Amino acid sequence: MRWDATTSGGDKAPRFVPAPLGTALGRGVRNRCPYCGVGRVFAGYLTLVPECSNCHAPLARLRADDAPPYFVIFLVGHLLVPPVFWVEKAYEPPMWLHMVIWLPLFTILCILLLRPIKGAVVGWMSTLGIVSVEDDDDEKEAPAAAAPPLHGLPDRNA
Ligand SMILES: [Zn+2]
Repeated sequence: MRWDATTSGGDKAPRFVPAPLGTALGRGVRNRCPYCGVGRVFAGYLTLVPECSNCHAPLARLRADDAPPYFVIFLVGHLLVPPVFWVEKAYEPPMWLHMVIWLPLFTILCILLLRPIKGAVVGWMSTLGIVSVEDDDDEKEAPAAAAPPLHGLPDRNA
């Protein structure tokens, strides 16, 4: 199957059917295209490939935005904050020891989880059909729109 944006709206049914939520999430976590499960999602650590190498779905247009770091902070916080309190209560170690142990642990866990969770969010976006309408290429070529005047706000340049 091949992604075709011209058939994804209007009267014609989309040629490209998203996978069920669980399947799309699992594929995203494993760095696989949420639609076909074959192509990769990431070109680098967190950069999305422009399109799937197998089915040509425009994966870069499934924008995860701020959701992945939100979920990572939520998850890592709930995983590590209880042990922090438990260690403090049980052993009362000096603050520098807390910092030496917990800060690297928080950092490493966040780095390890960010990519699979971003993949899952991209999979989730695919099931919701949330595809960015603007094309990056068009955005670069379009002339910069003039900023509307800010009525009622003091002009900093005056
Ligand atoms: Zn694909």
